[in-house]
Amino acid sequence: MTDPALPRQCRMCHRRLRDPASRAAGIGPVCHRKLRPTRGTPTPEQLTLDEEPHGPEHTQPS
Ligand SMILES: [Zn+2]
Repeated sequence: MTDPALPRQCRMCHRRLRDPASRAAGIGPVCHRKLRPTRGTPTPEQLTLDEEPHGPEHTQPS
């Protein structure tokens, strides 16, 4: 199930994109970071990258 309308390669480095979100963006996560090194404007695509959300998983039991 692949959408032919989506690009298969990163438009920056032309590597193949496996992540549907990366394909939708037309750019891989690595190049995406190069474009946005400061993360000033988070995009929905970034939610599917290898970012670990800060969660209260290490809260100490009181
Ligand atoms: Zn790339």
